[in-house]
Amino acid sequence: MAVRDVKAGFRNEEGIGTVLGILKQSFGERFQTGQSFREQHAHTTTYLPAQLPDGVVFVESAEDVKTVVKTCAAHRVPIIPFGVGSSLEGQVNAPSGGISIDFSRMNRVLRVSPADLDVTVEPGITREELNRELRDTGLFFPIDPGANASIGGMAATRASGTNAVRYGTMKDNVLSLTIVAADGEEIRTARRARKSSAGYDLTRLFVGSEGTLGVITSITLRLQGIPEKIGGGVCAFPSVAAACDAVIMTIQMGIPVARIELLDEVQMRACNAYSKLSYPEKPTLFLEFHGTEETVALQSAQFSEIATECGGDEFRWTANAEERAKLWNARHNAYWASRALAPELDGLSTDVCVPISRLAECVAETQADIVAEGLLAPIVGHAGDGNFHVLVLFDGKDPTSVEKVEGFIERLNRRALAMDGTCTGEHGIGQGKMAFLEEELGGAVDLMRSIKKSLDPDNIFNPGNIFRAGK
Ligand SMILES: Cc1cc2nc3c(=O)[nH]c(=O)nc-3n(C[C@H](O)[C@H](O)[C@H](O)COP(=O)(O)OP(=O)(O)OC[C@H]3O[C@@H](n4cnc5c(N)ncnc54)[C@H](O)[C@@H]3O)c2cc1C
Repeated sequence: MAVRDVKAGFRNEEGIGTVLGILKQSFGERFQTGQSFREQHAHTTTYLPAQLPDGVVFVESAEDVKTVVKTCAAHRVPIIPFGVGSSLEGQVNAPSGGISIDFSRMNRVLRVSPADLDVTVEPGITREELNRELRDTGLFFPIDPGANASIGGMAATRASGTNAVRYGTMKDNVLSLTIVAADGEEIRTARRARKSSAGYDLTRLFVGSEGTLGVITSITLRLQGIPEKIGGGVCAFPSVAAACDAVIMTIQMGIPVARIELLDEVQMRACNAYSKLSYPEKPTLFLEFHGTEETVALQSAQFSEIATECGGDEFRWTANAEERAKLWNARHNAYWASRALAPELDGLSTDVCVPISRLAECVAETQADIVAEGLLAPIVGHAGDGNFHVLVLFDGKDPTSVEKVEGFIERLNRRALAMDGTCTGEHGIGQGKMAFLEEELGGAVDLMRSIKKSLDPDNIFNPGNIFRAGK
């Protein structure tokens, strides 16, 4: 199975030509059709081939978005919303051409309510920009995918990351959305109430829809109070299985870790070299605890006991902000550290997620597969959620190398599915995981197709993503 087989779709040349003319007139310099703009707005993050949009419009308001959607809808031309383009499964590719909507200029905080612990933002704001804006409120937005992604892109991919074990994913943290639908009109999916049983949960339908159902124009998010005390540390283990056992015990005992990340020995070698560190090159857990002076110390002590029981080295932790920053910078740079192991090779980053009790087995079998195939493929995981990533380094120009990787990816996904897990915990389906979505959910994908058809009958929103509209 060619799991990375990116197909071109039907191009409506006449409609595209007409829309290019109209948008140039409506948006002037804010509409670009130059090659470099188009290349920057296609897929750039892994070895999936880029498929360029025909033009890029830099929107500044919901009114702009409505104009673009009405114009494209009238001429049946695809629309591909674009945050910062850090998605990993080809989500911003344009297999049928069309118009990329760039949200970088629609990045304001529209309102913040410290009393209600919520904020409403435009989709183009990045998570780091948002946290800078919130600095003086004593609040923060916790979801942290490695990249400095846009909030719109994070909502659209149902992103999570290192903090999800404590604070949940985008599914848990989006209270409400405004959406420009296929008729070019704006709807709001919910009010600001913390909970609601008013009708279908449209918010969660759009969270994770990868731009295929409509365009998000604003997002209301839950916020958290900045913890009084933050402690963090690392602990090495003799095997990934032992490290995973420590994670499982930590979660089962209900220790409220804020982050518990697994890096295998290859990833540790990469991080040491890239971030100039000297950690033992053994499977390692990176941890963070949020709370008060007492609770952070207590959680650290409890974890320390678990680590000893699982054969881990001594757990050293610190509440010193500088030391913690160094530690987490190394973790955040894990992707680039892995790429630096073999800069001449291509990198394919993939993720799966399994029930936590199957994590040790899934990671250990995956490591054995990597060794048996002679692959260079560091593993890093949001282990507290049963979610892990493999970055396979390979030669995209060598058919044997590509075939080997495809076989590995197929086995990895099937292994996760056989354990009642999912083919993606957080990166989404995009183009790269379509085949596995069908295997994972079978007939439920037909229901998704029906929803898509009813909301987007002409298939203008990000076609060729998640599934092909007609089978
Ligand atoms: C080094 C690295 C590490 C990463 N680590 C993680 C991780 O730990 N966890 C994780 O979840 N992800 C991770 N990712 C993947 C990526 O950061 C996320 O998928 C992120 O949510 C994408 O946001 P973006 O702004 O880049 O969106 P884009 O890539 O621009 O778009 C992603 C999708 O969202 C849609 N979209 C964007 N804006 C809108 C909008 N306004 N309305 C409707 N649809 C929209 C697009 O059409 C597309 O389908 C990582 C990526 C990299 C490069």
